[in-house]
Amino acid sequence: MRSTEPNDPEPREHLLTDKTSDEKARWDLRPKRLAECIGQSRLTETLSIAIQAASERGEPVDHILLHGPPGLGKTTFANVIAREMDVPIVTTSGPALERAGDLIAYLTGLELGSVLFIDEIHRLPKVVEEFLYPAMEDFAVDFIFDKGAHARSHRFRLERFTLVGATTRPGLLSAPLRERFGITRAVEFYTDEELAKVVKRSAGILDVEIEDDGAIEIARRARGTPRIANTLLKRVRDFAQVRADGRITSKVALEALMLEGVDEIGLTDLDRILLRTIIRFYGGGPVGLEAIAATLQQEQDTIVDMVEPFLLKIGFLARTPSGRMVTEEACMHLDEYPAKKRKTPKRTSTGELGL
Ligand code: ADP
Repeated sequence: MRSTEPNDPEPREHLLTDKTSDEKARWDLRPKRLAECIGQSRLTETLSIAIQAASERGEPVDHILLHGPPGLGKTTFANVIAREMDVPIVTTSGPALERAGDLIAYLTGLELGSVLFIDEIHRLPKVVEEFLYPAMEDFAVDFIFDKGAHARSHRFRLERFTLVGATTRPGLLSAPLRERFGITRAVEFYTDEELAKVVKRSAGILDVEIEDDGAIEIARRARGTPRIANTLLKRVRDFAQVRADGRITSKVALEALMLEGVDEIGLTDLDRILLRTIIRFYGGGPVGLEAIAATLQQEQDTIVDMVEPFLLKIGFLARTPSGRMVTEEACMHLDEYPAKKRKTPKRTSTGELGL
């Protein structure tokens, strides 16, 4: 984080981009079965019907595309599907499959009925993606030998499998790929009540004592995202252990989260910097993504995937054809307005301020 934010304290390692730390602990917090998954009632219903129907027919589940912001449970649901079907899961990601051979190695190694999970499937190179079409549709890969007039192709049969694709950017998927998924579902932001359940469940697994009010304080600041709820819980747990008696009350949660720079609606330093940058340097917008990213010295992908979805959801940011704009609600929350839009109090005929 760079300090373009004049009022905020020393920037710290960021909550929103913290995906790698404590991988083992996070894995253990993952629900393993559909019944353990909190929220996402429409998605869980669709999946339970598809899973039961496929099991009864003795077939793999249809290919499934899950889309939504990071940390909402796409990987979790892919693993749950495999567990419910009682089949192995093989996990890879779009950027890891650089060459067609990388994908073919995965495909030819799949056992009957397995789940192949491809995270960030929108980043699959085009040449690799083309091998996926016959694999998804006909459970086959076509090898091409030689070139030009001598070109011959050989079709290699694969075991039937289920492809689960996850993406934060469904719009970047090509139409032929999108159309080959039998089930396409959005993973939605969670409500505060659902996140409070996530926090209490995780606290149980981590063996931390937590009061209902403490769980709600954490849930409210978790931006609708279970991954963030779990990350916040771990930071509050440390604080409770060192600065209190280990028990998470609402007071302990509040103090710990204040220290983390997370405000009462879950905005972090990075959100505030982004909003204030647009207000201060771009008159509240509209401003293009490139300009914002350059000013913040952040990757455009970080802004689009990690920061914007929640700000758009709570109506603090609007996307227009000419760029991003900060809304009145955001200005009110930050108590800061663009200079050009600042309301100048009018003077009355006696020269007094007519506020
Ligand atoms: P994504 O793949 O969408 O980035 P993950 O599947 O990695 O998200 O989920 C992040 C974390 O959130 C998981 O480790 C898990 O602990 C938690 N989580 C996700 N979905 C749920 C859910 N439905 N119920 C409870 N916890 C969940």
